[in-house]
Amino acid sequence: MKKTFRGGTHPPEFKLTAGFASQKLPLPEIVHIPVTQHIGAPGRVIVAKGDEVKVGQPLTEPGGFVSAPAHASIAGTVKAVGNYANPLGKEMATVTIEGNGSDDWFEGIEEDPDWQSVDADEIRARVKNAGLAGMGGAAFPTHVKLAPPPEKPIDTVIINGAECEPFLTSDHRLMLERPEDILEGARLVARAVGARQVFVGIEDNKPDAWEALKQAVGEKNDIQVEMLPVKYPQGAEKQLINALTGREVPPPPGLPMDVGCLVQNVGSCVAIYEAVRYRRPLIERTVTVSGGGIKQPKNVIARIGTPFARLIEAAGGYEDDAAKLLMGGPMMGMSQWTDIVPVIKGTSGIVVLGKAEASLAEENPCIGCGRCVSVCPVFLLPTNIARLSQLEMFDEAEELGVVECIECGSCTYVCPSKRNLVQHIRFGKTTVLANRRKQAQKQSA
Ligand code: SF4
Ligand code: SF4
Repeated sequence: MKKTFRGGTHPPEFKLTAGFASQKLPLPEIVHIPVTQHIGAPGRVIVAKGDEVKVGQPLTEPGGFVSAPAHASIAGTVKAVGNYANPLGKEMATVTIEGNGSDDWFEGIEEDPDWQSVDADEIRARVKNAGLAGMGGAAFPTHVKLAPPPEKPIDTVIINGAECEPFLTSDHRLMLERPEDILEGARLVARAVGARQVFVGIEDNKPDAWEALKQAVGEKNDIQVEMLPVKYPQGAEKQLINALTGREVPPPPGLPMDVGCLVQNVGSCVAIYEAVRYRRPLIERTVTVSGGGIKQPKNVIARIGTPFARLIEAAGGYEDDAAKLLMGGPMMGMSQWTDIVPVIKGTSGIVVLGKAEASLAEENPCIGCGRCVSVCPVFLLPTNIARLSQLEMFDEAEELGVVECIECGSCTYVCPSKRNLVQHIRFGKTTVLANRRKQAQKQSA
């Protein structure tokens, strides 16, 4: 029997682009590069309007240990440093570069012939200099994940190739197109943290990716490539760890390192490999452009900072009934109000839903069927927590574990009364976390 976790659901997969090889987009004329694309301290901008920059040139320096630099993704002139629309929901500090049509790279970005023998500190240093942040969506600076405290040793590295969100296939294509590079990245991660075992977890709707990685491991036999049943949210960190190792990550603030695990997405592995071998910063990524509202869904390789509109245009443009633009998939993606927002390090997909897919049925009263409870992968009572959050009874919602919600949307998906459970729970969770931060600030003042 294949390994999996308890709970979860099966939304339709809609993997329309799985069979399409990734296409490299032509260089964009303009990019908008957000100064901060990760969780943690914002970077400090080190360029000014009018400066000439090359590809891979640092635009910021990290604002602390939990911070990562941003780099120019095209060569050209800095046109503006200021606030600009951001797919994370509001305007944010951004460096805008107008391209000069060349693809001139910044000096010093070149292959290290001895890359196989770099030590753990050097791996972390190169990963930090390359500005890597989780490419599966969480956007935690990668060098921080590679530096666990001594009291939390990591024995197991897990490479996340689950890609359980409907529509998204960018990780699937990467596993088919660059399996060796993913594995080299995984080995570097294991070396950096001193792990003794490495797993790759792939859902069984991608047997070709499983095969490609198995073949790439070959006789070395140092990495276990596991097939997991298709189930949402198989790609969530805690659920993946549980499926592959049987270990249970404790509730927040518990982390994978508490059970000796570290999870990296397949895209992050390729970026780590490039950072260590070629000293190459993260300036592009694979993005799925899909959904019923897109004329020719496809996977593209786009420079960071390229406006969504450019990718949508490359995918044939909008269908007439395009109704809802998302960064990410329909379960956990973020709604967008404009397509001028740029691709960031965590943009795995751009999904445009057609009217039929996007139509939100009216909320009806709860009928107490319990389906939301049966699918919740962290064993919460979604209906109760959502109701308490709606009533602004935050202490009671906290007692029921509102902060443990991973916002996977499974409860909302299965609810026959179309209750917007995850939206209400997210409101409660955000409020409780904000209250906790205020409390901590008061205590430390
Ligand atoms: S309560 Fe949270 S974790 Fe549980 S199913 Fe709903 S969104 Fe997912
Ligand atoms: S799935 Fe919907 S109707 Fe059923 S118990 Fe949960 S909230 Fe109520």
